[in-house]
Amino acid sequence: DGGSTAQQSAGQSADIDLSRPSIARVYDAVLGGKDNYEVDRVVADQVRLDMPHISDVGWFNRAVLGRGVRYLAAETGINQFLDLGAGLPTLENTHQVAQRHDPEARVVYVDIDPIVLAHGRALLEENEHTAVVTADLREPEKVLANPNVRRLIDFDKPVGVLLIGILHHLHDDEDPKGIVDAYMDAVPAGSHLMITAFCDTGPEARAVEETMLEFLGTGRFRTMDEITAYFDGFELLDPGVVALPMWRPEGPVATPLSIAQRLMVGGVARKN
Ligand code: SAM
Repeated sequence: DGGSTAQQSAGQSADIDLSRPSIARVYDAVLGGKDNYEVDRVVADQVRLDMPHISDVGWFNRAVLGRGVRYLAAETGINQFLDLGAGLPTLENTHQVAQRHDPEARVVYVDIDPIVLAHGRALLEENEHTAVVTADLREPEKVLANPNVRRLIDFDKPVGVLLIGILHHLHDDEDPKGIVDAYMDAVPAGSHLMITAFCDTGPEARAVEETMLEFLGTGRFRTMDEITAYFDGFELLDPGVVALPMWRPEGPVATPLSIAQRLMVGGVARKN
């Protein structure tokens, strides 16, 4: 059982709280990973009652992360990425996608959960061009001043700022747009912003939001307009903010989309 393997190694780390579910571990459970515990799987199962295809939603999100990073690396030439709310390693992590185009591409993974460093370091820091930083992305000044961030990211050159599957974990009074802008203020023209988030698409979405609020303490599924407003001040690239499977798909996508396909939306914008 993968969970017990995770438990043994995590038992050595005093930082990892096994008494409560964590966002990173619940997401890992949703994706079918092994770095999660019973307390997390209970939440994943609860979400699955609201949204039977929640694992697909997670994989739509990972797929669009791959397409977005591939686009940025191949078409814009960006070769440095700040991956905020990075999560535990899974398939096709940002550096693996980016370094396929440019083996020197640099990626800093930032996550508040120490398990990402504990379990992710071996995979996410597999070369000298990648680092994992344990920090709270709601404190952009601290993140931007972090020595590993400064070491790997050249703030005079365009940066890919990734906020994938994370902004719905920020409450309104935490000023998510202000946080987005703080990162974008720190990077030069030519930098790009990629965001994906859960969207308030109807009763099923609201049920997932309620479950997340109850079990994880966060969950704010914003409307299409609210999510689009994250990109205010930047040039939103085609096709705009759309359901994830519709963002630059690699093949035909059958419509109408299912509820699971529409549950998360995202887009990419350029700072001019
Ligand atoms: N970006 C990855 C993806 O989309 O596949 C992972 C998304 S996961 C749903 C959200 C991650 O954000 C979790 O790993 C969680 O620990 C992290 N997180 C939550 N709040 C955070 C914060 N305030 N600062 C940094 N990371 C945070």
